[in-house]
This record gives sequence, C-alpha cells and structure tokens, in this order.
Amino acid sequence: MPIDATQPYDDQNIFAKILRGEIPSQRVYDDDFAIAFHDINPQAPTHLLVIPKGAYVSWDDFSARAPDAEIAGFIRAVGTVARAAGLVEPGYRLLANIGQDGHQEVPHLHVHVFGGRPLGPMLA
Ligand code: ADP
Repeated sequence: MPIDATQPYDDQNIFAKILRGEIPSQRVYDDDFAIAFHDINPQAPTHLLVIPKGAYVSWDDFSARAPDAEIAGFIRAVGTVARAAGLVEPGYRLLANIGQDGHQEVPHLHVHVFGGRPLGPMLA
C-alpha cells in the first residue's frame, strides 16, 4: 500500500531496520550520508536502492528539512553508486516515488537506480 508522505518518520520501517543492520540486505555502498543495497524484487538487471542515513520519510521531507551537507552527500552518493555499478555508459535511470500517487511503499526516502538494459520511455 502506498504511504502518506506527510506522516511522521516511523523508525520501525524496513529500510530503517536495514540501516541499523537488524535485517539483512545485499549492501553495495556505505558512507557518512548514505547506503545502497540491491532491491529484493529487481525490475532491471541492476536495481539498487540508495537511502540517506538520516531519518527522512520521502524526497519531500528530505528536500525540505535536511541540512545542505546531507543533501550534497546523498546526491553525491547516488552518483558514486551508479558509477561503481558501471552504469554511466550506456546509461541508467533514477526514480524516487513520493506518497500515494507516486506509489511510495516504504516510508524512508530511497532512490531507485535502474540499469543493465534499455529501459524504454518513461512509464506514466
Ligand atoms: P514501489 O514498491 O511502488 O516501487 P517504493 O518506491 O517505496 O514503492 O519501493 C520500495 C522498494 O523496496 C521496492 O522496489 C521493493 O522491492 C523494495 N524492497 C522492499 N523490501 C526490501 C528489502 N527487505 N530489501 C530490499 N529491497 C526491498
């Protein structure tokens, strides 16, 4: 079920548990600001999720509240993850779902990184 992106942060969400190491993930990246791990239900040959270490429900929450250093660190981490996965050439797609209409299911900001095949035009 998609979430309400205006809800308060719930530290029992599944990505909070992954951040704390309480449930396993296939982690591919970790720095001061972000971690990245393989999506459990990949939609492309490469499907990674990059999440900030801070407690933010969504892109909306993050962009409104996060200090500039966390925003810069997170955006840099997304680029680093994609480069490390070898996706820059021939390219990749970033996606952040936000709230009900965006079909966001996990209430901790995450950016999907898709690659490894031609992804076609953007879906509506
Ligand atoms: P949607 O499911 O509509 O894409 P989100 O943007 O919130 O909504 O994406 C949540 C993503 O988290 C999904 O791609 C799902 O496969 C993935 N996911 C859920 N649980 C786990 C988990 N334990 N480990 C890795 N990925 C997970």
